[in-house]
Parts: sequence; structure tokens; C-alpha cells
Amino acid sequence: MYPSLKGKVVAVTGASSGLGKAIAQRFAEEGAKVVVNYLTEDDKPELVIDEIKTKGGEASKIQGDVSQEDDVKRIVQFAVETYGTLDVMVNNAGIQAEIPTEELSLDNWNKVIQTNLTGAFLGSREAIKHMLDHNIKGCVINMSSVHQQIPWPHFAHYAASKGGIKLLTETLALEYASSGIRVNNIAPGAIDTPINAEKFADPEAKKDVIDLIPMGYVGKPEEIAACVAWLASSEASYVTGITLYADGGMTKYPSFQAGKG
Ligand code: NAD
Repeated sequence: MYPSLKGKVVAVTGASSGLGKAIAQRFAEEGAKVVVNYLTEDDKPELVIDEIKTKGGEASKIQGDVSQEDDVKRIVQFAVETYGTLDVMVNNAGIQAEIPTEELSLDNWNKVIQTNLTGAFLGSREAIKHMLDHNIKGCVINMSSVHQQIPWPHFAHYAASKGGIKLLTETLALEYASSGIRVNNIAPGAIDTPINAEKFADPEAKKDVIDLIPMGYVGKPEEIAACVAWLASSEASYVTGITLYADGGMTKYPSFQAGKG
């Protein structure tokens, strides 16, 4: 637990499921006031809010599409109007779709880039603007992926969006370091969330993924939430511009395991 997170105002995009939900829950357990962003009512964001409130935490929900500038402005305004400020912005919302590149339409390309990369840009910009205006030494955390580093055939748009997030994060970290605003990146490997549900429903496909993970298991959303909480806490006060890989070793050339090569 990180006492420095108590009372902080944290906004998490795409927080009705998967990693975003686990991150929202973790911050609530830390005593933060959490803004849960969701895309549509079908996402049932009230379930996350209810779970948090049942455990004595504080959270509110706000609909918004992170690829839309006005929606992202609204999310940050909502945090400020509801809880008085914004200390931590977690740009987590993201989508992926398997499409061979020769069949990838411009619409599909744009949808992934606009959600994953433009969404992180808009969330970062709006949060940083608020932090600068109010002299808040806050923090932005972007959700990237091991595919900011590992090329991924059939997911060119996704890999490009995550590669973009890496340099967006590093650039913003440098740009705002002197204002005391830290900007960091998390790169999860394969984690058990709805984004992978279809693939992991097939035991062979799941085994193929596990074979790529030196630690030998698919990560849990809570293991990513723990990284986000640490990065947002004062324990990471001197950390900015990094990518924290939480991938069970996936980026460490698993084919070289057991002395091969
Ligand atoms: P998920 O599908 O459970 O969560 C994604 C969330 O984003 C959903 O709640 C969805 O409604 C929301 N969302 C999608 N488009 C949105 C939009 N335009 N505006 C607002 N919200 C929107 O999947 P997840 O695994 O929890 O993914 C969270 C993030 O983690 C994504 O950025 C994903 O790329 C990244 N990631 C996940 C894994 C993994 O293995 N699960 C690995 C690496 C990176």
C-alpha cells in the first residue's frame, strides 16, 4: 500500500473492464478518489462503482470516447468538478483487431490509432494542462504493450499505436519534467482480460502464448494495477519517462531460455 495515494484524484480511461477495472479498484483500495471512464452503457460501469463502494472506496463514472477531443475534455472536467482536481491520469483505454495488413482498411487503421494513440495524447494533454494551471506535481501513466517493442504481424495498426505511445510518453516526460509532472508508460505482456478472451478460450492458442512467456503463465490484471499504483506513488518520485515492462519476461528473447543460442 502507498499512503501517498490516499485522497488523490485519479482518472482511469476504459475502466469498466480488464486492466482499467483492476487499476480503478487498486486506486480505490489505496484511498484515492477514482473517476471511472467507460465507452457505452453496455460496459456496465456501475458494477465497478458498486464493487468499489461496497469496499468503502470512492468512485464516480463518466461516459466518454477517448478518441474524441470534446469527450476527453469532459472526462477531465468531470474529475475536477466532482473531486476538485486531478492528480493522476491513466490513459488505459485501447482496442485491437487481427487483420492482415494487405486487408487493413484505412477506417480500421484510423480507429485503432485514434483510440490507442490519439486517446493517450488527448488524455495526457488535458491532464497536463490542468496540472500546469494549478501547479500540481501530478502524474500521467499510459498503457502501452510489449508490442511497442515486439513486431506483431496482423496487428500493424496496434503495434504502431503502441510504438507511438512509447515516444509520446518519453517526449512528454522530458517536456514537463521541470514542472514536476511525471509521465510514464506500462508495457504489459499477455494478461487475462476480455481483450484476450476469445483467444484464451482455445486451449491450444493459450498454450502458444504461454510458450512465449518465460515465467510460464498469463498475467493477472492485479499485477498490472500494482505497477500503476507504484508509478503513481511517491515511491516512484524520481521516475519519469520509463516503460515498465510487466510481461513475465516476454521481451527477454524467450527462445534463448535454458541456454539455447
Ligand atoms: P479490455 O478490452 O478489457 O479493456 C479495454 C477497455 O477500453 C474496455 O473497457 C473498452 O470499453 C474501453 N474502450 C475501448 N475503446 C474506447 C474508447 N474509444 N473510449 C473509451 N474507452 C474505450 O482490455 P484490456 O486488456 O483491459 O486493455 C486495456 C489496455 O491494456 C489497452 O490499451 C490494451 O491495449 C492494453 N494491453 C492489454 C494487454 C492484455 O494482454 N490484456 C497487453 C498489453 C496491453
